[in-house]
Amino acid sequence: MTISRGPNFCVALTTVRQRAVVQTRARTKTKMALDSALSTPQRVAVIGGGLAGLSTTYHLLEKMPSGRHLSVEVFDKGLVGTAGASAVAGGLLHPLSPRGKLVHLGMEGLQATNYLLDKAQRSSADVGCTPESVVLRNELYRVAMTPNNVKQLQTTAQTLPELCEWVDSGTDLSGLFSEGDNSVLGALRMYNGCKVIHPPSYLSSLWAACESLADEKELSVSWNIIHGDDGFTESTLSAWKNRLKDFDAVVVSAGSGMFGTFLPLASLPIQLVRGQSLEMRIPSDAQWSKNALLCGKYVSPLADKDTVLVGATHEFQENALNVKGVLAELKIRTEGMVPKLWEQGVIQRMTVGYRVQSERGRHGRLPIVGRIPMPFAEALHRNAWVFSGLSSRGLLYHGIFGEALAGAVLQGNESLIHVSYPELAWWQKS
Ligand SMILES: Cc1cc2nc3c(=O)[nH]c(=O)nc-3n(C[C@H](O)[C@H](O)[C@H](O)COP(=O)(O)OP(=O)(O)OC[C@H]3O[C@@H](n4cnc5c(N)ncnc54)[C@H](O)[C@@H]3O)c2cc1C
Repeated sequence: MTISRGPNFCVALTTVRQRAVVQTRARTKTKMALDSALSTPQRVAVIGGGLAGLSTTYHLLEKMPSGRHLSVEVFDKGLVGTAGASAVAGGLLHPLSPRGKLVHLGMEGLQATNYLLDKAQRSSADVGCTPESVVLRNELYRVAMTPNNVKQLQTTAQTLPELCEWVDSGTDLSGLFSEGDNSVLGALRMYNGCKVIHPPSYLSSLWAACESLADEKELSVSWNIIHGDDGFTESTLSAWKNRLKDFDAVVVSAGSGMFGTFLPLASLPIQLVRGQSLEMRIPSDAQWSKNALLCGKYVSPLADKDTVLVGATHEFQENALNVKGVLAELKIRTEGMVPKLWEQGVIQRMTVGYRVQSERGRHGRLPIVGRIPMPFAEALHRNAWVFSGLSSRGLLYHGIFGEALAGAVLQGNESLIHVSYPELAWWQKS
C-alpha cells in the first residue's frame, strides 16, 4: 500500500495503522472462530445417563450455537430413569445442611435445578408423565426432635425468610405430622424452589426435553444401552477406548460404575456409600398429610398417594445390611417422627443405590467436575471429562455443574469451569 505524504499524512498513517490493527484483530477473531469451530466437538459421548449425565447432555445441546452440528450419544446400562442412584433417590431438593446452614452455592444450585425441572415438566407429556408426577410437592419439612435442633432451625428461619419458615408443633399443623405420640418439637418448612421430586419421572421427562431441544435445533441426541445386540462389553477400558475412538469428546458420569471400569483413570478421591430404602404402603384412611419429613432419615411421598419412601441407610461396609438391619436403622430414626407409619405401614419393596461420596473440604462435599488428566485420559480418550461424586446432593448440584461442564467441553477449555467456580479444582490438587 502506498501512502502519499501530504497534509493529512499523520491522519492517514494513523488510519492505516488503525486499519491494520483492526484487520489483525479481525484476522485473529476469524482465526479464533475457526479454531473454536475446529475444536468444538461435533460428536460427544456421555457415559451414564443419571442426573449428572442428563444435565450435561441438556446443557451441551442448549449451549451449542444454532446452525452448527452436534451429536450427543448417551451410553447407559439401563433405560432412562431406571438405573443408578438417581433412580432410587429420595427426591428431596433443598439447599440446607442437617443443621440448617445454607450449603455452598445452595441458592445458585436450587435455581439451576429448577430451570431443568421446568424444562422437564414442559416435556413430561411426551413420556406419559405430568408436571405433577415430576414434582410431587413444592415444600418439605426438616423436623426438630431436640431443643438444640429447635434453636438451630429457628435461627435458619430468621436468616433465610425467603426460603423457609419455622412451624411450631403447638400451632395448627393441619395433619403435618403423623397423629399419635410423636416427639416432634416443630419443623422448618422449606419452600420457594425446595421440592419433592419423583426422580424416575424427572429423568424420563428431562430426556424428553433433550430430544425435543435437539429436534428444535436440528442437533442429534441418542440413548444407547450397552450390552446391546452388538455384543459389546464395557468391562474393560480398552473396549471403551475402541468404542469411543471416533468421538471428539467423552464425559464419564457413570455414578457407582466409576468404581468398576473407570476408577483406574485417575484414582479419584471418592468412596461408595450404600443407601437402602423401604417403600411402605399406608392405609388410605390414615390421618397423615404425607408431606416429606426429614430428620437424618426421611419419609417422603411417592407418586402413588398411599405409598411413601423411607430412607436411606448409610452403609460404608462391604457387606450390605439385611432386611432386619435396614429396618432397625430406618425405624429408630423415623419412629419418633411418624409413629403410626411403623404401626400401620406395610413394607412393599426395598431399593438399593450407591452414593458416590466425595471428600469433605472447606466448602463441604463438592463434586468432581473437570478434565481427566493425562496420562489417565489416554487409556480412554484424549479429550475425556468427568462428572461424579455428587454425594447426597445430586439434585441440588447436577444442574449448576452440568451447565459449567457443558460449556467447558464445547470450548475444549477446562479453565472456564474454574473461572466461575475455582473451588471445583479441589480434586486436582489433592
Ligand atoms: C438411597 C439414596 C437416596 C438419595 N436421596 C437423595 C435426595 O433425596 N436428594 C438428593 O439430592 N440426592 C439424593 N441422593 C444422591 C443422588 O441420588 C446422587 O447424588 C445422584 O443420583 C448421582 O447421580 P449420578 O448421575 O452421578 O449417578 P447415577 O445416578 O448413579 O447415574 C449413573 C448412571 O451411569 C450408568 N452406568 C454405571 N456404570 C456404567 C457403565 N459401566 N457404562 C455405562 N453406564 C453406566 C448407570 O446405569 C446410571 O444410569 C440419594 C442417593 C441414594 C443412594
